[in-house]
Formats: sequence, C-alpha cells, structure tokens
Amino acid sequence: MSEALPLGATIGILGGGQLGRMLSLAAARLGFKTHIYCPDRHSPAFEVTPHKTLAAYDDLGALAAFAEMVDVVTYEFENVPAGTAEYLAALKPLRPGARALSISQDRLAEKAFIGGLGIPVAPHRAIRDAGDLTAAMLALGAPAVLKTTRLGYDGKGQRKVTSLDDATAAFGELAPHPLVLEAFVPFVREISVIVARGVDGTTAAFDPAENVHRDGILFTSTVPAGISADTAAEALRHATQIATALGYVGVLGVEFFMLADGHVLVNEIAPRVHNSGHWTEAVCITDQFEQHIRAISGWPLGDPRRLAGVVMENLIGDEIGAIPDALGHSIRPHAYGKAESRPGRKMGHLNRVALDSPQK
Ligand code: AMP
Repeated sequence: MSEALPLGATIGILGGGQLGRMLSLAAARLGFKTHIYCPDRHSPAFEVTPHKTLAAYDDLGALAAFAEMVDVVTYEFENVPAGTAEYLAALKPLRPGARALSISQDRLAEKAFIGGLGIPVAPHRAIRDAGDLTAAMLALGAPAVLKTTRLGYDGKGQRKVTSLDDATAAFGELAPHPLVLEAFVPFVREISVIVARGVDGTTAAFDPAENVHRDGILFTSTVPAGISADTAAEALRHATQIATALGYVGVLGVEFFMLADGHVLVNEIAPRVHNSGHWTEAVCITDQFEQHIRAISGWPLGDPRRLAGVVMENLIGDEIGAIPDALGHSIRPHAYGKAESRPGRKMGHLNRVALDSPQK
C-alpha cells in the first residue's frame, strides 16, 4: 500500500490500553474505523472501537482473521512478540515496521543502533555473568544502573547500584538476563521529543517536553521545557535522525538526559505514541494521536506547532478522583475509563493550559 487510506478504512491496533483508546478516538475523528486486538477483556480501548478481537497475541487463527479485516496494522506497546509482528507484516502493512520493534525491545540493540548513528548514549556494558559485572563496575564506576535489556517499563526491571556487592545482589534479582549496566548519568533535566515520519519520508516533531518522574513513573511533562534553543535543536535533530535511519512510519518517542553543559544523551526510544506527548492533545494544531494515524494511513502529516504552554500531569491510582472534583477552568481532563484503580496504575491525565506563557 503506497497510497493514502480512504475515509472509512479500518486501522488495526495491537493492544487495548489507554494509548490504543486515544488512537481509536483520533482515528474516528478522521473518519476511520479501528479494530483493537487485545487479550484482556477489560481493555479501556474496547469501549471506544467499533471492532475488537479478544485473543492471545500468539493465536495465529485470530491474527489471520484480524489481518483480513484491517487495512493497516499498528500497535500501542513495544513488547509485541516478534513472531506476531512478522506474521502480521506478511499479511498487511505493519507500521511502524518490525525493525523499530526489535530494536526498541532490547536496550543493547537500541544503544548499539543509536550509538552507531553518532548520537550519544550512556556508557554501558552487556552483563551476562559475574565476570562481566566485575569488569563493567570497574570500567564504569559507581553509582551505576543495572537494567534488564527487555521488558522493563516505568522504572521496573532496573536498580541503581552503588558497589560491586550491591550490583551482584541486583544481578541475582533482576530477570530476564542478559542485563545491561549503564553509568549513572548526572543529568540536570530529562526531556523527550515526539517525532513523526510519514510514508513519504517527511518528518514533523513536537516541541521538547521536560519530564519529571515520581516513583519511576512519569509525573509531569512541561512545555516549553526549561532548555536553551540549542539544546532543543540538538534533541529534535537526534530524534529526527533516528526516525529517518529506521525508515520509520508513525510517531516515535525519544527520551533524553540533558547534561549540565546543555548537550543530550538518548536514554531510550518508544516506537509508539508516548505518555510524555499527551500534552499535544490540548495545545497543538495536530496532536500525537492524530499524527500517528495520519502517518500510518499514508496521509500528509499535520502541523505539530504548539499554541500555548502546558503542564501534563498523570493521574495515578486514586488521583483519578481529581476528575471531576478538582478541575480548574483551563484544565483539559482525560480519563481512561479503567474500572479499577490500583496503586501505580495510570488512570488518566490533566492538561493544565497556560495561555499567557511564552510562545516559542
Ligand atoms: P528508563 O526505564 O531507562 O527510562 O529509566 C527510568 C528512569 O530511571 C529514567 O527516566 C531516569 O530518571 C532514571 N535512569 C535510568 N537510567 C539512568 C542512568 N543511566 N543514569 C541516571 N538515571 C537513570
């Protein structure tokens, strides 16, 4: 498929969480239908999609039937099993492609790829056994961060370690192996860039957001970020280069550490719409969800420019009670419709719009 999908076409989405839900809503606004494929019957995305499949990701019969009913396949989480991605990609366009998935699923592959583009990443070593760990602690020094290469999210699957003993204990506790040991980066800020690349290779990036985490989970994203124009340009350049080098189609999230000298390192990439891009729905001409749908549908990318300042605040667990109890006049709320609130569970977000903040 090289042409733009027509109105009324069906977009298949693997994963039924809040990102799938927001993609479905954006797709509907553009005149598309969505088909959500997810093994969890309580998926928040099921509530807002005309078509759904409740099946396991390795159910080849269900995947084949799903592929038959959709015009393009995308996903809202990066841990789509490689076999699922390959199977679907043989039947329908998979956007972003399998390469973006395989690279972003493995921290070592991700760092090798990004470093290979000449873009800085944290100094790191692969850790397969105790010998690797001893050598890496010696080379990188303490503190350092020991992480699983796969399946980590929201601060899970990683530990800050301050000595070899500490690292040895963490090595025994973290799974699956192999692990990666990263030097601790003395960052002064964390920022992210959400960039989109269309089927025709054009790119469009949103302004960098400044991110604050709480208990390993994103707490706020603030735009404009408190960074210089040079830092912003560097981050946008790196994000765009990564999308282009991957031959990427869709929206890509790139997380950075900013050092005291204003330069940035890439921490990780996410081949999907990203929590630190939720602010775009309140203040951009085109938000990240519409942008992703446009990109994967072969439509022209939309204008990512920002019309106001904004602070996005995640509502975790019982904080969802802020809707509607604590809503101010210039706050745009978004509830994900999850029936059960649990500690650490992302339940919704608020976008606090600041009309009088400086424009870029
Ligand atoms: P990650 O899962 O890689 O995004 O890491 C989650 C959070 O842990 C990051 O957003 C940072 O706040 C912190 N972190 C991860 N890796 C490092 C590192 N190498 N140096 C300093 N802080 C880190």
